[in-house]
Amino acid sequence: MLENKVAIITGATRGIGFATAKLFLENNAKVVVFGSREETVNKALDNLNDYKGKILGFYPDLTDEDSIRNVFKEVKDKFGSIDILINNAGVSSSTKIEDYKNGEFERIINLNVNALYMCSKVAVDYMKEQNEGVILNTSSMVSIYGQPSGCAYPTSKFAVNGLTKSLARELGKYNIRVNAVAPGVVRTDMVDSLPKEIIDPIINKIPLGRMAEPIDIANAFLYLASPMASFVTGEILSVDGAGMN
Ligand code: NAD
Repeated sequence: MLENKVAIITGATRGIGFATAKLFLENNAKVVVFGSREETVNKALDNLNDYKGKILGFYPDLTDEDSIRNVFKEVKDKFGSIDILINNAGVSSSTKIEDYKNGEFERIINLNVNALYMCSKVAVDYMKEQNEGVILNTSSMVSIYGQPSGCAYPTSKFAVNGLTKSLARELGKYNIRVNAVAPGVVRTDMVDSLPKEIIDPIINKIPLGRMAEPIDIANAFLYLASPMASFVTGEILSVDGAGMN
């Protein structure tokens, strides 16, 4: 479904991003894995060893435009284009508002929002030149419902939806589609790190009665990145087992 397309995926060393990288490779894309550290990027590349020649890995500082710009240029030089950007890296939060430490709220917004803006800004230069591109963002079910603690996290995901809808309107004229996937609870390290008292009541309310697996989310990204979604833009696609109402 993605023959000859080059996809950059942030936060692709594990969880949703890794599952998406693997699925895109299986669908004949060239994939660029971004992570936060050399060690985890190398581990992800080792695990995708079957696709040698079709994968690259980097660990740019996603809060620094120059760092992002340098890496995107290297991708373009090595793979020839930048067709798909998936802004997936993110951190969660369960801190109560009165317990937030200095800079903690800002650190979450920096990665979950500012990094998306910056990576998109750099990608748009290449996509405009190609008159084609797809930008996909990882939002969350909490961008609809909020959550009972860790307010920085839903705040950041509401912003992701705003960025998605606005960029879709701004970039349509360049044939750049912008969409987001809003996962429910997904079985990844991020969820494993949350306390049981937060997760269990959420799962009990999901009509499909289970957490999502990373592949459930990767499948949604594949659809949105592919020509099957050629007239879909500005959409926040919920993949959450009918949510938690
Ligand atoms: P994960 O913790 O398994 O993976 C997070 C990824 O982000 C890793 O590859 C990590 O290297 C990268 N990352 C973390 N901090 C970084 C930093 N400072 N700089 C660069 N990269 C960094 O998480 P996941 O569950 O796969 O989450 C991926 C996305 O899905 C996130 O945006 C998250 O908010 C969203 N999401 C997850 C769930 C869930 O239940 N797991 C639900 C809704 C949305």
